[in-house]
Amino acid sequence: MMASRECSRCSALTETNGAFCPNCGAPYGPTDPGVQAGPSGQTNGMAIASLVLAISCCSPLGVVFGHIAKKQIRERGDDGGGLATAGLVLGYLGLAVLAVYLLLIVGLVLFADG
Ligand SMILES: [Zn+2]
Repeated sequence: MMASRECSRCSALTETNGAFCPNCGAPYGPTDPGVQAGPSGQTNGMAIASLVLAISCCSPLGVVFGHIAKKQIRERGDDGGGLATAGLVLGYLGLAVLAVYLLLIVGLVLFADG
């Protein structure tokens, strides 16, 4: 007996006993928990570390941790994307300030005894 099913993706009503929608190919029924990871609901630790490092002493580490956090959040569905972005932005700002500072020092050293 054929079952009438509505596709959750394309909303097409089809008569099929197959596991997939003939219209768009989306799987029917409860989604396999192994296939769809879903958000973990955990705040990513690397994102927190990134922000803390970026606003304290170590801008380069903030940038590095921010990139790691972004990757982990993408892979695991962790929370903390905003934290990671803030850590990255502040980290790069810190790097820029550090670069300007170094350039000033180099400039002073080079032109000081003119
Ligand atoms: Zn469909």
